[in-house]
Amino acid sequence: MRKKVVAGNWKMNLNYDEARSLFSDLKSIVYKDERTELIVSAPTAYLSQFSTANISSIKLAAQNCHYEENGAFTGEISMSMLASIKVSHVIIGHSERRALFGETDETISKKVRAAMDKGITPILCCGESLEQRKAGEHFSVVNEQVVKGLSSLDSKEVKEVIIAYEPVWAIGTGETASPEQAQEMHAFIRGIILSLHDSDVAQQVRILYGGSVKPANAKELFQQSDIDGGLVGGASLKYDSFKAIISAAE
Ligand code: PEP
Repeated sequence: MRKKVVAGNWKMNLNYDEARSLFSDLKSIVYKDERTELIVSAPTAYLSQFSTANISSIKLAAQNCHYEENGAFTGEISMSMLASIKVSHVIIGHSERRALFGETDETISKKVRAAMDKGITPILCCGESLEQRKAGEHFSVVNEQVVKGLSSLDSKEVKEVIIAYEPVWAIGTGETASPEQAQEMHAFIRGIILSLHDSDVAQQVRILYGGSVKPANAKELFQQSDIDGGLVGGASLKYDSFKAIISAAE
């Protein structure tokens, strides 16, 4: 059985005191039986501070990373730098990075490879825009993002990846994909993995839903057979709502 994952994407929000206080509240709610994996994707500037408070039950994720090891890339951070401060996950190809920072499937694939090389688990994001869904292109868009994003990995590595399906029209809009819409796409993504690899890989890879997940809709989404948890933006910024979503996953 796949272990559920709840990942909070704090994006460029919370000053350090606010973030530290939320992080420390989250530490207190982590359950001992570890039924759910909890990941916090905090702003890069805070990661090493949180890492020193290192506790095994919360994993740390970066929100982006460069694929090169080091060099003249002002403003960037490398996978080995993240690994050196015990960051275990990295969000790659978030729709905001694709839309606002020009990330392509090619750069995303390089980042996925670089993360894997440093032992960091990629959380590969995919998802269609509203126009693409209306035009009936959502399956082909997601297919291309997933196939290209994972193209540098072998079957053993793909098993380790976390995929996050995040329809762009549902991110930060209050609009959520219905559980049926989300399940349909998650099953489709698992089918892509099956066609590229085998059923063992397809059954093991975790696929999260992201897009206005909140306490009121989390349980129904997470009950879908191919939804293994959530990547949560806005609702992960408040202790009560994030805690309720973690409970829904359990
Ligand atoms: C996200 O940006 O990853 C996200 C899912 O945001 P929200 O939950 O706010 O829609």
